[in-house]
Amino acid sequence: MEDCIFCKIVKGDLPCFKVYEDEKVLAFEDINPVSQGHTLIIPKRHAENLWEVPEDDLAAIHAASKRVIAAMRKALDPVGVALLQLNGRGVNQVVMHYHLHLMPRSRDEPPLPVTSWELKEGDMDSIREVSKRIAAAIAE
Ligand code: 5GP
Ligand code: ZN
Repeated sequence: MEDCIFCKIVKGDLPCFKVYEDEKVLAFEDINPVSQGHTLIIPKRHAENLWEVPEDDLAAIHAASKRVIAAMRKALDPVGVALLQLNGRGVNQVVMHYHLHLMPRSRDEPPLPVTSWELKEGDMDSIREVSKRIAAAIAE
């Protein structure tokens, strides 16, 4: 896609701090890191989000995520690694080229914002109702 910054990174028209690459995917450092080592994995073929990304690219991204977090464990010794992936502007997706965030947290860093939401007990009737709506849509 011509105007897509991540497609430009894949083509080499924009620079990146690459950590991993194979036939289908590229992994590089986020330039606004939430934590030390914050890495993005993207498919080389443009797809906007999880609705659009082909399953073979998705499988390659998740296989790559396993390699990259293994490397993070060796290189950074994090206390944990959070994975996050946003779909749609309504949940703050900013770059409209599918990307999986890998966010390691070091011992001396504060908790990651994406891992520290407040647990509030849900209403079981409403949870049951929404589960039925999603399951019915899967069965269609
Ligand atoms: P989103 O909210 O779409 O999931 O996150 C987009 C991410 O891409 C942000 O964390 C942002 O820092 C990162 N980002 C935006 N532009 C660039 C860029 O040109 N290079 C790199 N490496 N990361 C970028
Ligand atoms: Zn793109």
